[in-house]
Order: sequence, then C-alpha cells, then structure tokens
Amino acid sequence: MSNPSKKVIKLHEFAVVEDIVKTVLEEAGKHDGVTSIEEVLLEVGDLAFLNPAQLIFAFNTLKKDTLLANAQLLIANMEARVKCQECGYTGAMEPEGGEEYHFATPFIICPECKGPVDVLTGRQCTIRNVRLVVDDNDDKGGDA
Ligand SMILES: [Zn+2]
Repeated sequence: MSNPSKKVIKLHEFAVVEDIVKTVLEEAGKHDGVTSIEEVLLEVGDLAFLNPAQLIFAFNTLKKDTLLANAQLLIANMEARVKCQECGYTGAMEPEGGEEYHFATPFIICPECKGPVDVLTGRQCTIRNVRLVVDDNDDKGGDA
C-alpha cells in the first residue's frame, strides 16, 4: 500500500488523524444517504501529547475530497488521571509546560511523592461524536 519513494510528512498528529478520518468515513459508509459530514468531536487526553492546532491542520489536509471536506474538527480536552505505584495517589495529573510539553519527552511522576505512576486515563484520543448530513429526500441542494 505505502509507496516508499513517496515523501510523506509523518507527524504524529497526521498518523492519528489519518486513522480518525478512516474510521469516520468507514462509519459514515454504513449509513444510507450520507452526503457529507459536518462535525467530528474528538476527545483528546492531556497525556496524549497531541497538539490541537496540529490535529486540526492535519484534519483539514486529510479531509479534502472526502465526505469530510466541509467538516469541522472539534477537540475536547480530557483530564488525565494517574495512579502512583509508590504511594497509591490517584487523581489528576497536570502536564506542565503546555505547548512545549508536546516536544519534550514527557516524564510523568506522582505529584505527591514523585514516584512512578500508571496512567489511568488521558492517553487516549477518542472520537466522541460525528455529525452526519443525511439526504433522505431526493432534493439535491446546489449550495454548500
Ligand atoms: Zn506517589
């Protein structure tokens, strides 16, 4: 499938969005009369290390010539939760540094004892909602 001679920019976000676009289009294909997709709501965990601006950029690039051409990507943030292996602390884990955090190798430690933690939630990137435009009468409007 992949052509090695083809130069492809492979940002992490692109790979993720490629997957999302594929999933959404597959899902849309299961419904009759879907003319377009209006909106995709994505839930992104604090520890997914995905840059929302990059996600939207990737989405806008990858959606071309698909049912998603007019779709908007909405991103909802999901708070990360961790469990400490040392002291048992369970709760929020705030990634520090915002944007820069994305580029650094994250080092996730317990906010209480600085021990190693397991990430319970916050690593995922999940499609929460997809708004489809379904044409069930034969009226084909020309404007978009
Ligand atoms: Zn701890």
